Amino acid sequence: MNSPFVTCRNLVKNYETPTGSLEVLKGVNLEIQSGDFVAIIGPSGAGKTTLLNMITGVDKSTGGEVVVGDRRVTDTPQPQLVKWRAQTIGIVFQFFQLLPTISVADNIVFPMDYANVHKPAQRRDYALSLLARLGIEDQAVKRPDMLSGGQQQRVAIARALANEPPLIIGDEPTANLDRMSTENVFNIFRDAAARGAAVIITTYDREIVANVPRVYELKHGVLHEVKSDRRALA
Ligand code: ADP
Repeated sequence: MNSPFVTCRNLVKNYETPTGSLEVLKGVNLEIQSGDFVAIIGPSGAGKTTLLNMITGVDKSTGGEVVVGDRRVTDTPQPQLVKWRAQTIGIVFQFFQLLPTISVADNIVFPMDYANVHKPAQRRDYALSLLARLGIEDQAVKRPDMLSGGQQQRVAIARALANEPPLIIGDEPTANLDRMSTENVFNIFRDAAARGAAVIITTYDREIVANVPRVYELKHGVLHEVKSDRRALA
């Protein structure tokens, strides 16, 4: 088997709070190959977002290590991670984090410009094609705050796909979507995995969990595999 694209080894994260140290991750181990589609479930407050933040390197772990591709994320200083992250990871944040002062289309062109991905003359067309795949091409010239929550969610998904990254991470990426849009987004993530991306999402959605080939549950700071069907995407 190829070496994993994402590895977490004995990952520990404590938050220091006024009432003491809160141990959120107590030794998480995880290996994800390119082409894997993995869901992480667990009750609210279990540490799912924390785990994603460790993998993307937006927050620092207390112990253990994270390796993504050939980069040891846990040892890399934040300034070096910024460009690497833009080239390597497409992130759908729980609260979208769209840039409020530019158009929907420009929000999707922005990461392509930043990471210098795709030919400059083709970036806008590519952004529009992503919006069309998500069914919101008619929203392209609006500012994000003129869109509904579900539409903003889809813009965030289009932005995450813009650089065709080898790793796609979604923190409850379908939380604001109706059933049909959820299915559409699920298919887009599944296609990205089939084309070779490693895809990790957190979700509460039972239908998604039923259809994702590998599911882990985060509970009491430890990750347990609850389903593994590596043939499901074949
Ligand atoms: P989930 O995504 O599973 O809902 P989170 O990773 O957001 O869980 O949070 C896990 C726990 O860590 C929660 O108890 C939350 O209150 C706490 N937590 C998250 N971020 C911080 C922080 N920056 N400082 C202190 N506690 C935090």
